[in-house]
Amino acid sequence: MKFRNFPMVPRVVFGRGSFDQLGEILTPKRRNSEAPFVFLVDDVFEAKKALIERIPLCCNDQIIYVSAEEEPKTKQVDALVKQLNDNFAEKPSGIIGIGGGTLLDMAKAVAIMLNNPGSASEYQGWDLVHHQAVYHVGVPTISGTGAEVSRTTVLMGPERKLGINSDYTPFDQVLLDPELTDGVPKNQWFYTGMDCYIHCVESLTGTYLNAFSQSYGEKAMELCEEVYLQDIEEKESQDKLMMASWHGGMSIAYSQVGVAHAMSYGLSYLLGVKHGIGNCMVFDEIEEFYPEGVKVFKKMVDKHQIYIPKNVCAGLSDKEFDTMINVSLSLEPLWENALGKDWKDTITRHKLRELFERI
Ligand code: NAD
Ligand code: ZN
Repeated sequence: MKFRNFPMVPRVVFGRGSFDQLGEILTPKRRNSEAPFVFLVDDVFEAKKALIERIPLCCNDQIIYVSAEEEPKTKQVDALVKQLNDNFAEKPSGIIGIGGGTLLDMAKAVAIMLNNPGSASEYQGWDLVHHQAVYHVGVPTISGTGAEVSRTTVLMGPERKLGINSDYTPFDQVLLDPELTDGVPKNQWFYTGMDCYIHCVESLTGTYLNAFSQSYGEKAMELCEEVYLQDIEEKESQDKLMMASWHGGMSIAYSQVGVAHAMSYGLSYLLGVKHGIGNCMVFDEIEEFYPEGVKVFKKMVDKHQIYIPKNVCAGLSDKEFDTMINVSLSLEPLWENALGKDWKDTITRHKLRELFERI
């Protein structure tokens, strides 16, 4: 048996208002005045001048606004890398991603691709990156994905939606300031937060579970239940959800996700459904695999009066179902974690089609 030796984020700051410490953190990492820090910022903040003015710019540092409307694409990463190579004489001193999972993944991918030749699509998979990434920092502004701790950056490529999973992917520094999550729309708060809750359910009920994953998964689940089922004060809720996301991410680092993720990747590939909401749409219909988790999820949906889209697969063609089924079935470790080594006995193409038809 070979045990996994995975990297973790080496430095992390936590605290309300800690965003103001970013300048002090970055200064020693500046190579010289020609090597800028590049801030990739969710364009939802473009109009929020109060936050933008707190970004510690100096020398030729640059802010690039990126839309989180769609999930990040390999060609978008390639274009950003080209833009940085064309615009600056020196390689950036660092890339700082400020936003949700979309921006965090974008920052990780750009940092990797600045030091590795070719297109980002050539690195989708496991351990295909050979050179250290440029110094990169993650500053989440919405909680749930665990992208701030994970060893992957999930990208939509020409052929597949798949992460660049590598030892060079994790951030060198993460700054967790729960205040930055002020203003997240309620539905989005729920969908992204449920990504964390579903990570916990899939990890804790999976066959890959070990004490390492369990310890993080249980803590994350407890925090999610406090946030979504109890009536706690907003600041406390923001703090707790940010830590839930972190622990949920740590939990799946040493285990795996399961049925909801395998199916939601298919939905997202075919229909462009975003990760958080896609997971919720699937999870709502798979009580047979996660009876307890889905029951609690439905309670949370009810309590917060959240809209979960229905019938999105009605009217799809056979070919379209096949595409979703192919994407989903290719994620073998997810199925194996969920259902064990003999998962193929349960999850036939026919069964999977029936499951997709419910969504
Ligand atoms: P997101 O980054 O897509 O953002 C969702 C929405 O919330 C966007 O409209 C964004 O503009 C808005 N938003 C973010 N912060 C805000 C704030 N403070 N105020 C107002 N609006 C705000 O959301 P997400 O759910 O965090 O990320 C989803 C992405 O993360 C997907 O692309 C998915 O593939 C990826 N993901 C990655 C990992 C990983 O380990 N790398 C894990 C899970 C998901
Ligand atoms: Zn997820």
